[in-house]
Amino acid sequence: MPSVAEILIPLALDSAYSYAVPAGLTLTVGDVVQIPLGPRETVGVVWGVRQSPSGSNLRPVTGRLDVPPLSGPLRELVDWLARYTLAPKGSALAMALRLPDEAAQSETVRIGVRASGKPPARPTAARLKVLAVAADGIMRGKSALAKEAGVSLSVVDGLIDDGALEATALAPEPVALPPDPDHARVPLSEAQGEAVRELIAMMNPAPPPGEPLEAFLLTDAGQGAVPAAAPPPSSPEPETAPFRAPTILLEGVTGSGKTEVYFEAVADCVRRGRQALILMPEIALTAQFLDRFAERFGVRPATWHSGIGGKRRERIRAGVAAGEIAVVVGARSALFLPFAKLGIVVVDEEHEAAYKQEDGVHYHARDMAVVRGRIENCPVVLASATPSIETRVNAERGRYRHIVLPERFGGRRLPDIAAIDMRSDKPERGSFIAPALIAAVRETVAAGDQALLFLNRRGYAPLTLCRACGHRYQCRNCSTWLVEHRFRKALVCHQCGYAERRPDSCSECGTFDNLTPCGPGVERIAEEVTALFPDKRIIVLSSDFPGGAERLRAELQTVAEGGCDIVIGTQLVAKGHNFPHLTLVGVLDADIGLTSGDPRAAERTFQLLQQVTGRAGRGEKPGRALVQTFQPEHPVIAALLSGDAARFYEEEIAAREAAGLPPFGRLAALIVSANEREVAEAHGQALARASEPPDGVMVLGPAEAPLALVRGRYRFRLLVKTERSVDLQSYLRDWIARGPKVRGNVKVAIDVDPQSFL
Ligand code: ADP
Ligand code: ZN
Repeated sequence: MPSVAEILIPLALDSAYSYAVPAGLTLTVGDVVQIPLGPRETVGVVWGVRQSPSGSNLRPVTGRLDVPPLSGPLRELVDWLARYTLAPKGSALAMALRLPDEAAQSETVRIGVRASGKPPARPTAARLKVLAVAADGIMRGKSALAKEAGVSLSVVDGLIDDGALEATALAPEPVALPPDPDHARVPLSEAQGEAVRELIAMMNPAPPPGEPLEAFLLTDAGQGAVPAAAPPPSSPEPETAPFRAPTILLEGVTGSGKTEVYFEAVADCVRRGRQALILMPEIALTAQFLDRFAERFGVRPATWHSGIGGKRRERIRAGVAAGEIAVVVGARSALFLPFAKLGIVVVDEEHEAAYKQEDGVHYHARDMAVVRGRIENCPVVLASATPSIETRVNAERGRYRHIVLPERFGGRRLPDIAAIDMRSDKPERGSFIAPALIAAVRETVAAGDQALLFLNRRGYAPLTLCRACGHRYQCRNCSTWLVEHRFRKALVCHQCGYAERRPDSCSECGTFDNLTPCGPGVERIAEEVTALFPDKRIIVLSSDFPGGAERLRAELQTVAEGGCDIVIGTQLVAKGHNFPHLTLVGVLDADIGLTSGDPRAAERTFQLLQQVTGRAGRGEKPGRALVQTFQPEHPVIAALLSGDAARFYEEEIAAREAAGLPPFGRLAALIVSANEREVAEAHGQALARASEPPDGVMVLGPAEAPLALVRGRYRFRLLVKTERSVDLQSYLRDWIARGPKVRGNVKVAIDVDPQSFL
């Protein structure tokens, strides 16, 4: 009987398509194949193979590609992801199957040169200098040779043309050298050592009865040298239940040494010959972190983020699949790398909203990390100073294990936090920094320390209006105000990127030079600070500055090294950086996020403020934080000031439970969008009519989205709220199936566990 292969194609298609397997080709599940699709050829993955008499009527598979097959765990992850998020299975596959992309930038080939022994045709002084250096016969990079000889590159090129130097393409540098788990072990504090012991014991199957724990741990938690040939753990007794790797919450205040602790867990994993994945929010993936890794393990790890392109991506994938790359540090998409023998996943700053992908497949990388851990039976460590409510509840209920580092390393104190009540201690007219904060900055920089002023708003001013006619500048594609960016001399939409030159006269009434900025962004704060401290070194850190991630990483490095006095930054400075010279943090508007309709508004604000104030005093000197607020009595601000995080979380968890909000209930959002407002609204209403919510399910809306217009599309939202026991996905699937057909330009995006409510 002919064989039929079910092929999943990495496009927005929900099911696999059947193809005939031609005689002579044997296919196995996971194989990557080429297939005809309509008039063209495309690539897919074998999702199933069966024998069927109908096989002869199907179009045949063209052939198998010479790339590693998609592993069982990854196929399972794709299935799981699609089922959970309701994304088309092909879209989920597309994340795990990034094929070599011809168009992607290729790595530049490095050319090595050395003396050929042949004399040059024209022995100029410059040429002789080069040959003198090259006389030792050692292979050097072209530019290295030119530099060493003190001549321009063209001289070297001339000698190559001449035949006096011979050139060869050098092998590309390896993407990552093997990390040495025992390269430089830092002596751990007692609390850290205990945390490491607990962590490693949890991560591995228990030692057989009678064997002491010490003999089984490959590390001795920093108490001394590792025995040269530690025996591998013997397999558990057959009668004991199979080992189920846990998810572990590693909670520790900022500066407690969570990184040091999970590095030991990674080292243990590497010693056992397994691979480690450390996930970070993209922006926290800094040179500083990679250097810190290198200090501990002797080499930098392989990195994976959106900036890694072309050939390098492929080499990392291949190295990971072959098990040669032991540690990857990456942003959320690293979760879909084809690890051969994954031994641990660490999710650093697990509470970060940036782990949620908000377009395409709406998935939460922290949750998917837990799923991947389950599939691979490998432990997952969630690290945070301010864990998400979801994770905290999972730890309290015993679904996750919990390890706590209650104190900062080295007896360093957490910063003292005080409020500046903006109702009484007002900034001067037209400025945004209160006198008390200015005085504190002055003191700090006079003592040679660093100050950070934090405002979570990019640009110069969030709103621009004409003083003559009151016209407010709005995006033409979105329902947002245009944000003035003075460095760029432009008004910019933060939603769609639309930008226009800041006009000299009002585009509405024509009045000249009468536009006025309303409210501050970091650029405006920078202007104020420059006027106050003209001779101080000031750095503004905002994700939208020219130079991109590279420049940002360099500037973060400068801050870390003490190369500036005052830092002004948006939330990207709050995330996991270690600035040892920083002793003062000033929060310019602590109330920003408190009023949004987001059910996580309080939690988010608390986390952000704790993170950013926690940047202070991580070095030798103690730190302090001043928080500008109009509502010092608000529970979030009060908890921050008193340092009573436990109480805040307790109350917040109780409030969530009472309201049936996550993790005590489930949420999903349906976002309906269309080019015309009426069409979007009508489709939303038709969906609502078809919702037929059973017991335990509530459907709210459609309501116009807070961001009612984005990129020229009108948006309406429906919110589904269910009890925890309800199978949300099945309900959604049935509802969508009986709901109105999607016609014309209407789109319905499904967001399970929404993090954003805009
Ligand atoms: P966290 O991740 O909890 O914020 P880190 O791991 O970044 O904390 O540690 C905070 C600071 O303390 C870092 O500068 C780190 O190098 C230092 N540190 C932590 N533990 C140790 C240790 N055992 N020995 C030396 N320095 C340490
Ligand atoms: Zn816009």
